[in-house]
Amino acid sequence: MRIVLLGAPGSGKGTQAGLLKADLNIPHISTGDLLRAAVKAGTALGVKAKSVMDSGQLVSDDIVLGMLEERLAQPDARAGFILDGYPRNLAQCEALQHLLERLQQPVDVALQLVVPSEMIVDRLAGRAAAENRKDDTPDTVRERLRVYAEQTAPVAGFYEQQGRLTVLDGVGELRDVYQRILSSLPRRAA
Ligand code: AMP
Repeated sequence: MRIVLLGAPGSGKGTQAGLLKADLNIPHISTGDLLRAAVKAGTALGVKAKSVMDSGQLVSDDIVLGMLEERLAQPDARAGFILDGYPRNLAQCEALQHLLERLQQPVDVALQLVVPSEMIVDRLAGRAAAENRKDDTPDTVRERLRVYAEQTAPVAGFYEQQGRLTVLDGVGELRDVYQRILSSLPRRAA
């Protein structure tokens, strides 16, 4: 099963992807995590990406696609994957589509978690305190939400046109949201 998880920063994608990964036994591939690992390791790419991430902007499409391609080439991704944080704009949608066509592994379903923006801001403030993420400061959060609305929100339409989009209410207890996700999955995955 190949799943794309969509939703604003702080909509709970990462947490839900962690649960799905354990239940479906497929990797959770977060481009944000891949980038943070590169920053931590101090690779050339990480150095380049760091200031962009800290400002709340999107890292260049080429860099992220290269990282994703490398990750998808690893053997564990052959069984499927949960993609979190990619695609983040329409160019990335096209790039992913081409990449997965080449790998003969098309996306099965795009799941969008919808959470009202006031709730998102509160959640991200909580995460800033808990995880000490530099890009969870109020100014950067505002910028990330702006970038989301402008560039990432249209991604849902891309999958809707393909008849692959499922929109879910992301508000509520973590386990309740997870149950909504499980019940929405095509039967062979649930
Ligand atoms: P995330 O953990 O998904 O919120 O990502 C954290 C930051 O990493 C984002 O604000 C971007 O700067 C960068 N990032 C993650 N995924 C992508 C992507 N698909 N395209 C461009 N930048 C990304």
